[in-house]
Amino acid sequence: MVLGVVRERGPVSKADIARETGLSQATVGAIVPLLIERGLVSESAPVVSGVGRPPTLLELDHDFYNVVGLKLMEDHIVAVVTDLEAQTLGQCELPLSNIDPESVATTAGAAVDHLLQISGLGHKRILGVGIGMAGVIDTSLGICRSSPFLGWQDVPIAALVEGRVGVPVRVDNDTNTLALAERWFGVGQKSDDFILVTLGRGVGLSVVVGGSVYRGAHGGAGEFGHTVMSDGDAPCSCGNRGCLEATIGEPALLRRAQDLAQEHKIQKPTTAAELYAAAPDEQVFSDLLAGAGTLLGRALGNLINLLAPELVVLSGEGVDAGEQLLGAVNAELAVHAHEGLRGSYELVVEPLSDEAWARGAASLVLDAVFESPTRSRSTPLWDWDNWQPTELKERTMKEMSR
Ligand SMILES: [Zn+2]
Repeated sequence: MVLGVVRERGPVSKADIARETGLSQATVGAIVPLLIERGLVSESAPVVSGVGRPPTLLELDHDFYNVVGLKLMEDHIVAVVTDLEAQTLGQCELPLSNIDPESVATTAGAAVDHLLQISGLGHKRILGVGIGMAGVIDTSLGICRSSPFLGWQDVPIAALVEGRVGVPVRVDNDTNTLALAERWFGVGQKSDDFILVTLGRGVGLSVVVGGSVYRGAHGGAGEFGHTVMSDGDAPCSCGNRGCLEATIGEPALLRRAQDLAQEHKIQKPTTAAELYAAAPDEQVFSDLLAGAGTLLGRALGNLINLLAPELVVLSGEGVDAGEQLLGAVNAELAVHAHEGLRGSYELVVEPLSDEAWARGAASLVLDAVFESPTRSRSTPLWDWDNWQPTELKERTMKEMSR
């Protein structure tokens, strides 16, 4: 709790930390030296003003420790190492030639070694590794329940990678990791109740309630892309038909655009990026994206009516579709968001890169470091009293006994 306040409010005095946390000044006074000793907090130069001795102010020592974030995709891993404020210090990308879990864990380990080598950082100061990946993830047990892209079922990926890197590993759905990055370091800092929707190959959702990501009883909450929008014939990667992402996911949009190009004898786009670039000049593509925006706006309107968030972040590669799509989303929201909720939320569009996904994965570890123990529902990655990583086995036992 003390560390969280120093991060959020620093430079801050001990008296203010006590006020903010509700802890006694004596307790804060006992904890602060431990945090300083461990290199997490440092004293900043006092600001002299007025009479009397100015209080010593404390701030986060953000570059003494590092965390690693890995964004796992079907054919490569993007890895970043960051400081405790999620600032990227080094980045690399490794191809995945084999996607069986053991090989992926080995490549993940190699990515961590390579990162530390190129950024000149030591293993000892890595607090943990966060992994973001598509699919249904049980974060508390570190298990990938199902990943359609990798074809995995019940893979204990956190344990496998932990065996290679020797520091705590946490895994989550990649949309949740992005939401955590927003909550700690981005637009989500000012909001405790927000939703983040990603548009790209799939359509992802993360719901932040009271400052924490809502993961559902066993992980897997937020399968917004598989909201059934029609009883149409669009087959989805999940095996159902008529899902939102079966119509507006990038593969679906691209297929439809290629059919339209053939029909209208215009140049066929070969990637979603080419489709977005051509849309302003080709009416049929522009209409296609507007149609996708309408469907997304309708689905988003339902979500807003259901959850009443104060902030809606729209992100992912698909926001590059630009005004054709986003304009239609806004027009549809104006109609479908419930009358009493219109104007009660802010819509923010955030384009992002592979690096941002990996930074999101790093935020998974930062969340474990900074989250107040009175709020967090999962077992900490670190045993703060003994200053050592909590063994995954121990974490798993604790989680299972809940
Ligand atoms: Zn589906």
